[in-house]
Amino acid sequence: MSLSIGIVGLPNVGKSTLFNALTKNNVLAANYPFATIEPNVGIVGVPDVRLTELAKLYDNPKIIPASVSFVDIAGIVRGASEGQGLGNKFLANIRECQAIVQVVRAFSGEVLHVDGKVQPSDDIETINTELILADLQTIVTSIGKAKSPDPALLKAREILDGGQTLFAAKYYSEATDELQLLTTKPFIYVFNVDEGDLSNKELQSELTALVSPAEAIFVCAKLEAELSELDSEEAQELLSELGQAESGLSQLIHSGFNTLGLQTYLTAGPKEVRAWTIPVGATAPQAAGVIHTDFEKGFIKAAIVAYDDLVAAGSETAAKAAGKLRLEGKDYIMQDGDVVEFRFNV
Ligand code: GDP
Repeated sequence: MSLSIGIVGLPNVGKSTLFNALTKNNVLAANYPFATIEPNVGIVGVPDVRLTELAKLYDNPKIIPASVSFVDIAGIVRGASEGQGLGNKFLANIRECQAIVQVVRAFSGEVLHVDGKVQPSDDIETINTELILADLQTIVTSIGKAKSPDPALLKAREILDGGQTLFAAKYYSEATDELQLLTTKPFIYVFNVDEGDLSNKELQSELTALVSPAEAIFVCAKLEAELSELDSEEAQELLSELGQAESGLSQLIHSGFNTLGLQTYLTAGPKEVRAWTIPVGATAPQAAGVIHTDFEKGFIKAAIVAYDDLVAAGSETAAKAAGKLRLEGKDYIMQDGDVVEFRFNV
């Protein structure tokens, strides 16, 4: 289960700069041979220090992080839902994503803004309006085809007509699900700020309030581009100089996981150390199914040790001797950081 996040925003807000920085480290794609790699899709490894620590316990095998694919969705301008710019092409791209990241320009300077001024609230409204109009078209078409309109769709239409996204209104129904509406998807707002504003709490709380209850994160796309050129130690140094604990990429992925209610569990052995993405609340067989459907069907037990316990013990054998290795059955609810070995029948 790879998380797929669509990046949208007006032209010149820094989408491509951010996308290129995020996906610079494309070696990962080699580990995901089944993914169709299009030029606007980048697969990014989820930074996770636990993998490096685990690898040390197993003689440094190959590390395969969990992955997120970012899709650079060009073409939303005012009027896009009516065919302006690249027109409706962006819609199909967005439908395939689980979450939408809206990049909003909040950096100053000379770069031309499509509307001639930098005004984050206007930009957000422009993008949201296009998505809302696209959903309204879908709903109106569906209602037009039905003998008697579905009340859930009438309600959704009312919300959208009022200028709210279905996500902001927290409105879901089977009918809106079926239509794969765009505005039911979780939104995360990425404000592209000047480097100096990365620690400007006042500006950040203003912008956060604009989009609440959606998550807001603050990055400087230009800085992310510089960071992507550095090795991880140098990158960490530059980040600490700027008073930042983690890179924009890292923050964005963590927000994505939070917003979508996802977590990771780990598998470790002499061949590879790997992170897997599952929903919070997934059971052990469901987690096994992410590796292979046969693992879920033939699930018997999961041998589990918590990451912290394993690292504290120093080896699998020591963790077992300390009574930290548990055998869990099919009702076990997975916890973030569980290090797992599945037992199954095929
Ligand atoms: P897109 O059209 O949204 O993909 O925007 P681009 O990524 O192409 O960026 C548009 C312009 O803004 C380029 O000239 C970038 O170099 C510049 N830009 C992007 N991010 C930043 C930033 O954080 N600070 C500054 N000053 N310029 C930026």
